Amino acid sequence: MDADFESTLLTADQIATRLDELAQQIVLDIEAATGLSDPEHPHNTLTIIPIMTGSIIFVADLVRRLPLRMRIYPMSASSYPGTATTSRGVTLSSDSRVPDELTGQHVLLIDDILDSGSTLRAVTDELKTRGPDTLHTCVLLRKQRDQAMSFPIDYVAFDIPDEFVVGYGLDYDDQYRNVPQIVTLKPEVAQG
Ligand code: 5GP
Ligand code: MG
Repeated sequence: MDADFESTLLTADQIATRLDELAQQIVLDIEAATGLSDPEHPHNTLTIIPIMTGSIIFVADLVRRLPLRMRIYPMSASSYPGTATTSRGVTLSSDSRVPDELTGQHVLLIDDILDSGSTLRAVTDELKTRGPDTLHTCVLLRKQRDQAMSFPIDYVAFDIPDEFVVGYGLDYDDQYRNVPQIVTLKPEVAQG
């Protein structure tokens, strides 16, 4: 598998170190914005909505760094089917367990990567119609291109060059999600 990789953009250690930092920031902000740790409301919970499947590893590592009461409702949205390496438009899943009503909920939406922004826009537009009290957005990676850099987002772990990357949850043709670091693929491997 390693023979398929061109270069390593982020090592597992770099990701872990940055996640420690990001988690602390999220806890402070969310507690301040929502009163989630308010002893008067001890049953307040954070609603985590991970966008599958690319965010699985990121979410698993991030939520274990957030000592907050939470519920996790994964949902699917896909824009790079199979061997595509450019976006083909967004499809949201209809079978997710995300509640129809989010009134009174504090939501943290988590995705793997912000590229054109169309996935996050489609999902945030949908979630806003469900009336959450607060909606924060978080991605592991943001590509250094205008559409991504100008997109409103609360938390970004890393800005990366505008290249197609895999690893740490991100796939090419559903492969490479288990790679512990963020890498680029050799051109002969990725032909989208
Ligand atoms: P956007 O809707 O912002 O254009 O793209 C976001 C989605 O496209 C991400 O959730 C991810 O699934 C996919 N995507 C965008 N860029 C990449 C990339 O460089 N590598 C991989 N594996 N997926 C990407
Ligand atoms: Mg995705």
